[in-house]
Amino acid sequence: MIINTFTAGPIDANNYLLTDNDEAVLIDCSEVKPEVLSALEGKKLKFILLTHGHFDHVLGVNEMREKTGAKVLINKEDVVRMNESADIMRTFGVQGVETPKADDFLNDGDTLKFGNTEIKVIATPGHTQGCVCYLIDGKLFSGDTLFKESVGRCDLPGGNFQKLSDSVKNRLFTLDDNTIVYPGHGPETTIGHEKKYNEII
Ligand SMILES: [Zn+2]
Repeated sequence: MIINTFTAGPIDANNYLLTDNDEAVLIDCSEVKPEVLSALEGKKLKFILLTHGHFDHVLGVNEMREKTGAKVLINKEDVVRMNESADIMRTFGVQGVETPKADDFLNDGDTLKFGNTEIKVIATPGHTQGCVCYLIDGKLFSGDTLFKESVGRCDLPGGNFQKLSDSVKNRLFTLDDNTIVYPGHGPETTIGHEKKYNEII
């Protein structure tokens, strides 16, 4: 599996393009960048996997689906967050943003496949009610649940610190220490590093 990282969208979210043979998945889609489309040449984008519904992670999904035919997946609890995107962009002075739409919903423990690679869905509520992480080939794509030495904020609608703390400590910190973590913003880290240095400890 090859991982390509793109920073995209209004507040520099990490979008990860994973490819295995001739199939690909995109983790979060903040905007449609030409570099992502070039990297996809000759490959089929099977899924756009959303870590959660915040506008800065989802604004590109409609256009990307149109261009690639990928299926957009999210936890149902965060559709409400996606539906807020157009209103939030208006507060930034950007008019006429189309509401991002999902094609289907994901639940804790679901598994998906692209190429020969398996994807496991881990529900991690807290930053939003419908946050999920994706465990793929021993790597964790953690969205805004877990960052290097910090965690996502809990003061936005749907946020809950106790839930976030439970998700990180009881779910993510049970993964192998060597698991590489690819967050929704900022640099990579590992579970072992976060168990020692994360602010939530
Ligand atoms: Zn977020």
